Amino acid sequence: MNSSADSAAAEVSELRFPCADAPVPGMPVEISDGVLWFRFPLPMALDHVNVYALRDMDGWTVVDTGINSSLTRKIWLEVMAGPLGGRPVRRVVLTHHHPDHVGLAGWFKHEFGAEIWSTRVAWLMARMLTLDVQPRHTPESIRFYRDAGVPEDMIAARSRERPFNFADIVHPVPAGFRRIQDGETVEFGRRSWRVRFGGGHAPDHATFWCREDALIIGGDQFLADISPNIGVYPTEPEANPLRDWLESCARFQDHADNESLVLVGHKVPYTGLEVRLRQLVENHISALGRLREHLIQPRSAADCLKVLFKRDIDQENYGFAIVESVAHLNFLHQGGEASRSRRNDGAWQFIAN
Ligand SMILES: [Zn+2]
Ligand SMILES: [Zn+2]
Repeated sequence: MNSSADSAAAEVSELRFPCADAPVPGMPVEISDGVLWFRFPLPMALDHVNVYALRDMDGWTVVDTGINSSLTRKIWLEVMAGPLGGRPVRRVVLTHHHPDHVGLAGWFKHEFGAEIWSTRVAWLMARMLTLDVQPRHTPESIRFYRDAGVPEDMIAARSRERPFNFADIVHPVPAGFRRIQDGETVEFGRRSWRVRFGGGHAPDHATFWCREDALIIGGDQFLADISPNIGVYPTEPEANPLRDWLESCARFQDHADNESLVLVGHKVPYTGLEVRLRQLVENHISALGRLREHLIQPRSAADCLKVLFKRDIDQENYGFAIVESVAHLNFLHQGGEASRSRRNDGAWQFIAN
């Protein structure tokens, strides 16, 4: 242990929020020279997404967009005419493929000729998911819930409902885009940004680092007040996103400092990324510790929710919770710390080794 590093870390033991007054929809906060922070509403418990507009010589670069809804489009039209001064949005840079971030990328291209800059995986995922409209839950998703030990009455209720479709809140994603690659330097917003990919919350999640101005665009990879969802989905039931997440945090730690302002996808920007990365890892390590103790008896993913989240999970959060529980159990199982077998009802049950 390096004691001088320890005392230095102890001095900066907390995150700082230098611009705690969040913008109201349509009205930006100028968070750095030529960097406007906007908020767009979301129709869910997490009721907003942050979007950034960066002033370029010839117009604007927009980082993430909000969902595709008539309300979001209306706010954008007001923003373009007002705070953006009628200057064109030249490009939309996407941090990752989730609908609150990519929702209007296609609209900006289709209506205003903006270029879409995206990782290849984010673009492929967004385009595939918008084209994949399902009137009913697929056999794979029913199988996934059963594997996870979701109660049969809940599965029966779900299988009668029309499932959430990505295209419900995402504008069609056009065929053409400009690819962003890990490690390259890109120019937008009159700055140079080093691109660094993360994983775990979304595959190939792009983050952008400007050393000169001490700015980091973190999307959902570096959220401060909430822990990003780490989930396994029916498309890839054996995925191990928690391993990807922990590996990403370790890689980012080589570059993180506690001075750069981190522009996040939700809640408010902050400084203290080095501290925050440590907290994010510790949260999962302690959750894994609780689970190991809980798995002294065989348990399904559904049996682990209360231990994992330290509270009862309501219906609204059940979907997010179950995918996260599977992620933690897959991590333990694939890391050799737990074994699994089929329960009589078909669910995977895990037991600590
Ligand atoms: Zn996300
Ligand atoms: Zn998000």
